[in-house]
Amino acid sequence: MVLCALVYSDSYQGYELSPSHPMKPARLMLTYELMRAYGLFDGGVAVIEPRAATEDELALVHDRDYIAKVRELSQPGAPAGAGAGWGLGTGDNPIFPRMHEASALIAGASITAAAWVMKESPGHAFNMAGGLHHALSNKASGFCVYNDAAIAIAWLKKHYGARALYLDFDAHHGDGVQYAFEADPDVLTVSFHESGMYLFPGTGFTNERGRGAGSGYAVNLPLPPGSADGELIEAFDALVPPLARAFRPDIIVTQDGCDAHWSDPLSHLALTLAGYRALFERQQRLAHELTGGRWLALGGGGYQAYTSVPRIWTILLEVMAGRKLDDTLPEEWRRLCARFEAGAVPRRLNEDDSPEAPVAESERVRASVRRSVDEIISGVPAELRAAL
Ligand SMILES: [Zn+2]
Repeated sequence: MVLCALVYSDSYQGYELSPSHPMKPARLMLTYELMRAYGLFDGGVAVIEPRAATEDELALVHDRDYIAKVRELSQPGAPAGAGAGWGLGTGDNPIFPRMHEASALIAGASITAAAWVMKESPGHAFNMAGGLHHALSNKASGFCVYNDAAIAIAWLKKHYGARALYLDFDAHHGDGVQYAFEADPDVLTVSFHESGMYLFPGTGFTNERGRGAGSGYAVNLPLPPGSADGELIEAFDALVPPLARAFRPDIIVTQDGCDAHWSDPLSHLALTLAGYRALFERQQRLAHELTGGRWLALGGGGYQAYTSVPRIWTILLEVMAGRKLDDTLPEEWRRLCARFEAGAVPRRLNEDDSPEAPVAESERVRASVRRSVDEIISGVPAELRAAL
C-alpha cells in the first residue's frame, strides 16, 4: 500500500496575481473538486492542511531584503512603482493584496509535503499550488514570488541531509531552481522545456551544466516547438533513469506543470494526456526503484486552466495513489467546470483530440531532440556517466 497525501488549502485562492492574469487559482479548486468527486480522498489519499513557511525557511533561498520588500508591498496602499528592481509590479508579476502571505503559504505547503514524504515509507505527496520555479533569490519572475521548489529542496538538505533529484517538465525552463543549486553536487536538476529560443525565460540550453563543484549537476533538454509524447518519452528514457541511478538520490522532486500540453495557450509543445500519464508512471517507478518511494510532486504552469489542468493533475494523483479511475467524468464536476469554462467541458478523463503533426515536422523535431540528448550525454561527468 502506497501512502499518498495531497497538501491543499482553500487559501491557495489568495495567490491571484490579478483578476485577468493567466495563472488562475480557480484551476486548483477545480482540480481538488475533480479529485474529490472521483473519491480519491475516501480512504486513499490523505488531505493535509499546509502551514506557511517561516521567514528563516524562505531565507534558505531568498535574500532577506527581498523578503522584506515582498512583505512591504503586500500592505494596502503600496505605491505602484515600488517593486521596480525586484521583479514586482510588472505585467507578469503584479503586486497583489497579501502577496507575502499567499506566497509563503505555497512555500510552506511544499515543505509540509516534503516533511510528510520523509516520514512515510513509501510516501508520495503532491502540492499542486507549488512548482513556482522561476523565482530568483532576489527577484520575482514568471508569475513566481517565492521559489517553493528550491525552498523545499534546501529544507530537505538542511533537515535530512538529503540528496535530491529535481525533474522539471513544465513548458518553461526551471531556471530559478537550477540557479539555486548550480554549484551543488547534492542536487541534480533536470529540466525538459520548450527551447529558450522560442519561450520565456530564454535559458536552459544543453551547455548550461552547473558550475564549480556542481559542474555536470544541471541538465537541460530544450525542446523545439511541436515536440510531443514520443520525443519526450524517448529522451526521458535515454537520460533520466541512467542519471538517476548513478546519482542515487534520497528523494525525487518533480515539477509537473501542465503547460506542455498541446492545448496550452502559452507554449508550443504538444504533449497529450496519455503522454503526461506515461511521464507520471515513470516518475513513480523511479521513486520506487531508487528512493524507497520518496516522491514530492509539485504543480507549475497550466493555462488551459479549467479543462486540461484539472484532468492532468487528477491523472497524476491517480498514478501516485495506484488507483484506476473511471474514464467518465463525474457529472457534478462537469456542472461546476461549466461555470468557469466558456467552451465545451470534456466528458471523459482521458479524452484528448490532439491535432496530428505532419510527418516531416515530427521527423525534424525528433532529430533535433536526439541531437540535444547526445550533446547532454557527451557533457555528463564521469561519476554520473556509469550507466549512460
Ligand atoms: Zn510554465
